[in-house]
Amino acid sequence: MRYGSRVAYYGDGRGRWIRRQWKAQCPSKVFFYGRCQGVKGHRGVHWCYSSSGNFQWSDNDEDPKHDGCAGSTPPGHKSYVSPNRMQKDYYLSHFTDTEVKDKTVIAMLERDKTPEHGASINRPIKLANKRRNSIRRLRRAK
Ligand SMILES: [Zn+2]
Repeated sequence: MRYGSRVAYYGDGRGRWIRRQWKAQCPSKVFFYGRCQGVKGHRGVHWCYSSSGNFQWSDNDEDPKHDGCAGSTPPGHKSYVSPNRMQKDYYLSHFTDTEVKDKTVIAMLERDKTPEHGASINRPIKLANKRRNSIRRLRRAK
């Protein structure tokens, strides 16, 4: 993945588009465990989770609190930090939505092209439309 910020477009299938831009992910490595899952510029330790759910962390040079140490804490341990508690620092939790007003951009999106290289396009799936229709039908039947 690129180190810059991620962009995705969400269409409603009727010509309305939302542009979602995520803040950049922290570029630091968590010791030798992997890439930090925090948002760029976060406070506290760099962190990620192992496949078995261990909270893996290493001291943050920008906010040092652990003398440069690193560690891996299993679930159930008293100093374990749950993914729920890290949600506020998780880089994918930090984004801004704006409605696309530029007709040139909308025309691009309708042709499955994006102004940014590597941005993704999301449209409602057919099932969602069918379900909405059946909900409408149910309401009418009342
Ligand atoms: Zn970090």
